[in-house]
Amino acid sequence: MFGMGARPLDEDPRPIKPATVRRVVRTFSPYKKKVAVVGLAIVITAGLGVVNPLLIIAVFDKALFGANSNCAGQPCPNLPLLYRYVALMIAIPLVTSIIGIGQTYLANQVGLRVMQDLRNALYRHLQEMPLRFFTTTRTGEIQSRLANDVGGVQSVVTDTASTVLSNTVTIVSTIVTMLIISIPLTILSLLLLPLFLWLTVRVGKARRVVATSTQKTLADLTSITEETLSVSGMLLSKSFGRQSFEIGRFREENERLTGLQIRQTMIGRSFFALIGFFFSITPALVYLVAGWVNSNHGSAVIQSGMLVGFTTLQSRLFFPIGSMLQVSTEVQSSFALFDRVFEYLDMEHEIVDAPDAEPLVNVRGRVELDHVRFRYEEPPGDLVPISPETVPTEQLREWTLDDVSLTIEPGQLAALVGPSGAGKTTITYLVPRLYDVQAGAVRIDDHDVRHVTLESLGDAIGVVTQETYLFHDTVRRNLLYGKPDATLEELEAAARAANIHGKISELPEGYDTVVGERGYKLSGGEKQRLAIARVILKDPSILILDEATSSLDTTSERLVQSALEPLMQGRTTIAIAHRLSTILQADVIFVIDRGRVVEQGTHEELLTKSGLYARLYEQQFQDQVIEPDSSLR
Ligand code: ATP
Repeated sequence: MFGMGARPLDEDPRPIKPATVRRVVRTFSPYKKKVAVVGLAIVITAGLGVVNPLLIIAVFDKALFGANSNCAGQPCPNLPLLYRYVALMIAIPLVTSIIGIGQTYLANQVGLRVMQDLRNALYRHLQEMPLRFFTTTRTGEIQSRLANDVGGVQSVVTDTASTVLSNTVTIVSTIVTMLIISIPLTILSLLLLPLFLWLTVRVGKARRVVATSTQKTLADLTSITEETLSVSGMLLSKSFGRQSFEIGRFREENERLTGLQIRQTMIGRSFFALIGFFFSITPALVYLVAGWVNSNHGSAVIQSGMLVGFTTLQSRLFFPIGSMLQVSTEVQSSFALFDRVFEYLDMEHEIVDAPDAEPLVNVRGRVELDHVRFRYEEPPGDLVPISPETVPTEQLREWTLDDVSLTIEPGQLAALVGPSGAGKTTITYLVPRLYDVQAGAVRIDDHDVRHVTLESLGDAIGVVTQETYLFHDTVRRNLLYGKPDATLEELEAAARAANIHGKISELPEGYDTVVGERGYKLSGGEKQRLAIARVILKDPSILILDEATSSLDTTSERLVQSALEPLMQGRTTIAIAHRLSTILQADVIFVIDRGRVVEQGTHEELLTKSGLYARLYEQQFQDQVIEPDSSLR
């Protein structure tokens, strides 16, 4: 039926939880006065709806065709009465419309404000979510909750809640009025109701299934678009020659979406067809029965005005009843949307300021990892020892970092060296508390990072990563991100120190030139130097440097190197080193292998040990002059 084929009706929305209802009510509580006014307006307008059918009865049976003393007891028009009724018939819809406009305005205001509040709350909450959340959640999914789900919530007030209240008042007032006019005719009208209800419920279910699939497909399509039409996605698909694959994937999802949308339209249409059908046949039945009754009595027991008024009232029933049945699923989906938003809002921040957290002040820059154990995810269930013969060695690693202890004194340059996947990046994540350790402690100047405020920790640490992220904004604003109140002189000094001032001055609008999304209009080396200038402005006590492995040309490389030097001066630097020059300069080198510090010392000390470092040096660094070596990773 309704084009649904054999598709199972398996997409029942989750039942509404009372806790969600309470929370939704709380969300609206700042606007309770406005909500009350909207509610009152709805009750008045819906209630006034029965007045016109009653007036029709009066017009027919009293003003137009009533027995009138002026006409010797024969039916004839009573003009003064007719004028009054007609005036009322014009005035009431006018008043209803005016109230309706005000009600729509207020309802929209409340809906949009609630949406604005939720969006703000959600964005704020997401900003404070740990990195773990973003590494495990699709960007499209996060954006969809922020845009679509919060947007969908708005319709709860403006559409759903208003419809429910207005329909309830309409249905109750109409049935009561019908009963007052004629109990038998009311019973007759309501006889057809079960069939109507059954059909409407079927249509509603079909509609829900299709709507859910459409929403899912739309989310998938958005996700594909976001992934593939970004600069990095484009680079990937172009460099792998996967464009026709991507086009095919998009085409398939798009095709699915169109099919679903057609079905959705058709189902919507059948709902109206159903209402139209019942709308037409019930008056006919009422006329038929009225005819039988009157002919049995041999007189007009049921008068024409009563018939017209009654059928008008009756016609007011189907649409509200039909839409109430539909609305019940809409209410469920609206609550499901609220649930999705609340689900995000309830997600634990994990990494938050401890109640006794104190700001980190006068940072000297001593960094210590004390018997640190860390893994990204808790293993499912108990960690069962796996037999070394059956699994690759990598899977045997229980901890990403296993009992790591290292100390970097203030102002030292520490180089982290080791094979790919050893855990070097992970170590640098633990210092700014992007993740928390599972055992042991990370300390800065003897303060456990879990007991200092996150804001002061962020202020104390500067990070220069391999992949430079620049906002789609001017060079100036990108730089100011490091220090929002920096003066022009400071800005230029930082850019000079990072060897990028000359380049910026050459740009068409100098510091006011907009750099493309992720700074793609600048070369790799220039972007890095801009990022370095940004950190110079920030002036952190501790610098984390993830040296780029991508090859820059020799000149570019030298420029980046000489930009880094002033940055490293006088501050503790933890460098994931890929350049020979960095490891030679390092005060201490930590050699990391499979989550452990296996060797530590200066370059010379380590060479004499003839261990992993010596091997790595021989294989990877020895031939390096200036160019970075990527083979270590
Ligand atoms: P490379 O030099 O290749 O960057 P690395 O020494 O910096 O390597 P890490 O990035 O610290 O190594 O990774 C250590 C281990 O942790 C790897 O096995 C990696 O697969 C795993 N890992 C890294 N990030 C995550 C993550 N977000 N979730 C789960 N596992 C991760």
